[in-house]
Amino acid sequence: MINSNESNGLKELIDKLKEARCLSKEEWTWLIAGRTPELSEYLFALAREERHQYYRHDVYVRGLIEFTNYCRNDCLYCGIRKSNQNASRYRLTEEEILSCCRMGYELGFRTFVLQGGEDAYFTDDKIAHLVHCIKDLYPDCAVTLSLGERSYESYKRFFDAGADRYLLRHETYNSAHYAKLHPASLSAAKRQQCLWNLKEIGYQVGTGFMVGSPYQTPENLAEDMLFIHELNPHMVGIGPFIPHHDTPFADKASGTLELTLFMLGLIRLMLPKVLLPATTALGTIHPNGREQGILAGANVVMPNLSPTAVRKDYSLYDNKICTGDEAAECRNCLERRMESIGYQVVTARGDSLNV
Ligand code: SAH
Repeated sequence: MINSNESNGLKELIDKLKEARCLSKEEWTWLIAGRTPELSEYLFALAREERHQYYRHDVYVRGLIEFTNYCRNDCLYCGIRKSNQNASRYRLTEEEILSCCRMGYELGFRTFVLQGGEDAYFTDDKIAHLVHCIKDLYPDCAVTLSLGERSYESYKRFFDAGADRYLLRHETYNSAHYAKLHPASLSAAKRQQCLWNLKEIGYQVGTGFMVGSPYQTPENLAEDMLFIHELNPHMVGIGPFIPHHDTPFADKASGTLELTLFMLGLIRLMLPKVLLPATTALGTIHPNGREQGILAGANVVMPNLSPTAVRKDYSLYDNKICTGDEAAECRNCLERRMESIGYQVVTARGDSLNV
């Protein structure tokens, strides 16, 4: 039980965060472990203030194109992991991807996010060609890649082909925790090195983590905050862990809405100008999860542009929302949801002010 003295102490920590933009590992841990509903409300009001100062009531949209669910990795939490024999595998053709972009452009999207498993079929040549084509056709749009870990040279090639941004969540900073979520072939250090490489090349970089992933402690989250502070990315994508029935974590508990919102608020106070999406996973664990995310400090939503025929096959976790809707429906639905809380979806490219 937190008594009111401690609760006052935590409020002061939030004030200190707003002032100094960072806390020590002990302070982060204390704040995260000791949070209360009252403290959350205090945090969200401050987070909204920061957000409005830089991004007003605008909500940026990114069109998400899930172009392949083949993956060579075996992450224990992920429904499209290599050893899930029940996944029905697909890859979109270049024509199909371009047709998603065409439809997206007509709907007002000015950022396309190409996300997929680590699929060797999509060689550097193929990705570079695809990026070239999209930038040729839509020079006023940003292209974001989210294809996992590749070499420095590969990332450089995609950047030279015109890619603007790259999303690669660090997943969890702590290497022992990372090892509990991933096969031995993957490491926290390698993942983090990729992020530093992407930054050095000149990408606008997005990192992030799952909230409430199995074995995660408040101390792990504190380490995530310190890493994000050091990396100083343009975007931070966080969402609750949600189990997938065909993975080793099928019986693990989901992350909560409450903790995810608290972390969103903290990130907004730490990096006031960062781009912060209210993710699909947040909308999956609660019907108004994304709206609540915006009210906790988020300023981006990422509706799905993938063809409806393959939507349900990009199944990272169970009960993912919007798998039956056409792109236009998703776009309109989000616009209404944002309007209902006093925010407006804007069609600008939406580059990060955190440079
Ligand atoms: N292959 C790419 C894209 C991964 S999918 C890459 O490696 O970056 C995008 C994100 O979905 C992952 O980074 C992970 O944080 C999240 N994710 C995967 N499985 C999840 C689950 N079961 N619950 C919640 N989020 C999940």
